[in-house]
Amino acid sequence: MKTEFDLAVASLPIRGRETRFPVGRVFCVGRNYAEHAKEMGADPSREAPFFFSKPAAAVWRPDGTVPYPPRTQDLHHEAELVVALHQGGASLTLAAARACVFAYGVGIDFTRRDLQAEAKKQGRPWDTAKGFDASGPVSELVALEDCGWLEKGAITLTLNGQARQQGDLSDMIWKVDEIIAELSTYYTLQPGDIIFTGTPAGVGAVDRGDAVEATIEGVGQLAFRMI
Ligand code: MN
Repeated sequence: MKTEFDLAVASLPIRGRETRFPVGRVFCVGRNYAEHAKEMGADPSREAPFFFSKPAAAVWRPDGTVPYPPRTQDLHHEAELVVALHQGGASLTLAAARACVFAYGVGIDFTRRDLQAEAKKQGRPWDTAKGFDASGPVSELVALEDCGWLEKGAITLTLNGQARQQGDLSDMIWKVDEIIAELSTYYTLQPGDIIFTGTPAGVGAVDRGDAVEATIEGVGQLAFRMI
């Protein structure tokens, strides 16, 4: 019996490098900016951020476009700093967590908000709201050694040239090293893991034909059209 697989491993380009970054797992942080937690009806002083995940196949490298998914009438953009790990471990100290960071990228945690609201109401999992095809577009990565450790920097998203999301990385409730350290108490982190670190306020709906531009100062830009 002949068995053949055409395996497409998700990977991301790295600025100025020949090699690509192979994506293992995709972790996401929920409600990591106070103003976004409030716009979602939560009280950030009472509830800590939390984790969920997307399949690696959801990572989409936009060649100018991102497909609008089925089964939603309310697709929301969430612009986020993405962190790519080249080292892992369990129960990491903050210093060890820091050493795991290989590169940063600009990502969008696309969310079927209508399905998420229904899942919350029913106490059901978020997978269909968060982990659908092309739900995680990510820019080319920038290696830490090329851009330096990021503590602050504007994170913005424009829709058809209009400002929608605006925040600063310094507003993150859990900083990047704290996210990695916390995550490593749940999972043994591995090279290839990437983390969407949460979104600032201003999330909203996108539609077919919309031009989306997410920018993070010191990292780069992710620009595409929804089709
Ligand atoms: Mn998010």
